[in-house]
Amino acid sequence: MPNFSLPDDVFIRAAEQFPTPFHLYDEAGIRKTARALNAAFSWAPGFKEYFAVKALPNPRILNIFKEEGCGVDCSSECELLLAEKSGFSGDDIMFSANAMPPCEYDHASALGAIINLDDFSDVDILAAHGGIPETVCVRYNPGGEFHLGNAIMGSPGDSKYGWTKAQLAEGLTRLHAMGAKGFGLHAFLASNTTDNSYYPKLAGILFDLGAEMEKVCGMPLRFINLSGGVGIPYRPEGQPADIQAIGQGVKEEYIRVFGDPAQGRVKIKTELGRFMTGPHGWLVTHVTHEKKIYKDYLGVDACASNLMRPAMYGAYHHIHICGKRDEPVDHLYDVTGCLCENNDKFAIDRMLPKIEIGDLMVIHDTGAHGYAMGYQYNGRLRSAEILYTKDGDFRMIRRAETPEDYFATLL
Ligand SMILES: *Cc1c(COP(=O)(O)O)cnc(C)c1O
Repeated sequence: MPNFSLPDDVFIRAAEQFPTPFHLYDEAGIRKTARALNAAFSWAPGFKEYFAVKALPNPRILNIFKEEGCGVDCSSECELLLAEKSGFSGDDIMFSANAMPPCEYDHASALGAIINLDDFSDVDILAAHGGIPETVCVRYNPGGEFHLGNAIMGSPGDSKYGWTKAQLAEGLTRLHAMGAKGFGLHAFLASNTTDNSYYPKLAGILFDLGAEMEKVCGMPLRFINLSGGVGIPYRPEGQPADIQAIGQGVKEEYIRVFGDPAQGRVKIKTELGRFMTGPHGWLVTHVTHEKKIYKDYLGVDACASNLMRPAMYGAYHHIHICGKRDEPVDHLYDVTGCLCENNDKFAIDRMLPKIEIGDLMVIHDTGAHGYAMGYQYNGRLRSAEILYTKDGDFRMIRRAETPEDYFATLL
């Protein structure tokens, strides 16, 4: 089933109030997902989700997560500023470094954020920019391929992130000598996976590694950070991840390595982005053109500047037409934007109902890595973001860019 968690009436009313295109986010849905995640890990004292800011960097959204007891995961100075302006501080902020300008460590340290070091060489940079904190997190890269059952889920050996195991042993020992008192372990080995065994397997790897490293470096493992990667079904036939089952799977691994979780010796953290907001966002656009040459093309008033994933990854996003949910899908179209770039297509060879110019089109699952990946190529500007509040109102939480914004940086 496609994700039809909002009725068409909501999109239609929003499009009466705001010019298209815009992203619409469902507050109630986001809160529901945050609560389901917290419930799935309620067996783990001190569990915390650090919402990956890059997925949906809007302070109103970050405030929702704050109210649901989450922290934030930042990876740049601007994301740290967003976190700060949204009222996060201290260990409610995770700062995941990779090839960062050193001044960003100063900033993260000043906020008291938990710093996640991406490389051995980051130790000296952190020592000189903010100092070695009492608890430091390090990112592990096991190399090779990462399997779940027979399936290859990722190729850490080709990924730029993290430390090798040998480096961890040496680096953690060094961090201890430099004043650290405890450590966390982080890894991100598979992206957008709805396989319920991903987090449990990753947790098992990090628990085992942590127990081994405790002996090597003489510091206690304080937490593991399972990072992001739990996915969503973009395709209608896809199965959603079962977060309750995932939580139980991680619990079994915890008990296997550390025994009773109630003592909370090793805490669990996550940094989910896509899973938290992906299904709760839609790109709402009007069909403005139809063109028939060797294929049938629909032109819409959104373009890849508003949602880059189809152009960049060939990603599938489900599409439906307001008021035509139940009509037969018996027409074949490419759905295109207005960029002078042939990959500016939201769908290729997609079966849809017969379309009329002026139809209101809804592109699904744009709540994560959607607006955020936007850009201004071709002088196309980024759209507004609208929050459909839990009280059933619409609230513009970011206005659309104007030509003045486009020219603002020119000298
Ligand atoms: C992108 C990212 C995430 C979030 O990934 P999702 O696939 O959206 O869950 C979490 N942690 C880090 C370090 C990331 O780079």
